[in-house]
Amino acid sequence: MVVAGSGLTGIESAAEIAERHPRPSVVLLGRAEPGAAMNPQATSYLRAALDRLGVQVRAGVEVVKVLPDAVELAGGENIVADAILWTSGTRVSPPAAAAGLAVDERGRIVTDAALRSVSHPEVYAIGDAAAIRQGYGIMHGTCQGGMPTGVHAALSIDRVLRGKQPKPFRFGYYHTPVSLGRGDAVVQFTRPDDSPRRICPTGRTAVRYKETVTASPWPTYGRMKKVPASGAFWPRGGRFTRVRGDE
Ligand SMILES: Cc1cc2nc3c(=O)[nH]c(=O)nc-3n(C[C@H](O)[C@H](O)[C@H](O)COP(=O)(O)OP(=O)(O)OC[C@H]3O[C@@H](n4cnc5c(N)ncnc54)[C@H](O)[C@@H]3O)c2cc1C
Repeated sequence: MVVAGSGLTGIESAAEIAERHPRPSVVLLGRAEPGAAMNPQATSYLRAALDRLGVQVRAGVEVVKVLPDAVELAGGENIVADAILWTSGTRVSPPAAAAGLAVDERGRIVTDAALRSVSHPEVYAIGDAAAIRQGYGIMHGTCQGGMPTGVHAALSIDRVLRGKQPKPFRFGYYHTPVSLGRGDAVVQFTRPDDSPRRICPTGRTAVRYKETVTASPWPTYGRMKKVPASGAFWPRGGRFTRVRGDE
């Protein structure tokens, strides 16, 4: 089995498949070394876990063609596969672009600082469907950032209905939890701009952390129903997201 794309979706998928189905060999292909954005300790832990699970990693390669029974790499090499899992990135479903909203190259709605479409300010965009600029660049899709965008948009609409201006949205990342099969994981704690900190728990501690995070949207939703104000607490990124003129 070929997993094409060595980002987090490719890593987690390759590990899960290799653990569940040890018989077929799993080959993970990608431009970058798996976990390249993490600190060296986390990267080597992740690589050792993939090795232990029997995942063959080929980094620094470019897939140029998907064939019925293989993938072709730049340079002409074919890697034979019974199944190919394509994990090279996400795109937004077409209706936003088709409706004439300004979108970026992935179809994400380009927003202003208050999460309003730059072309249609009456439209708010949130989650993976929005291209939201922060001090460190455009936010990438995560539920740690997606949930605050939803809350912020709701609060903004409420403010506008009460005749006030919406506030700028600010968000800083805090972690990248990566599962490595059911029994192993690595959690990379990050600075608000998503660069790695030194702390990176591994093993059972990381598994418990990751499972708690993955299960958190429902409890978060339940807590917000009981205590709506709790929805407004998320890391705002401090100096990493502060721009001149912010409140
Ligand atoms: C394998 C994987 C692992 C991940 N792990 C993590 C993690 O550990 N931590 C983390 O923070 N983030 C993680 N993420 C990212 C996280 O899942 C997303 O950022 C988050 O789900 C985005 O939420 P969303 O509501 O914007 O979009 P989605 O959750 O993608 O929801 C969009 C919904 O819109 C529906 N839809 C699309 N088009 C249409 C249409 N035309 N009409 C009607 N409905 C439509 C879709 O079916 C879907 O239900 C992971 C993502 C992947 C793929």
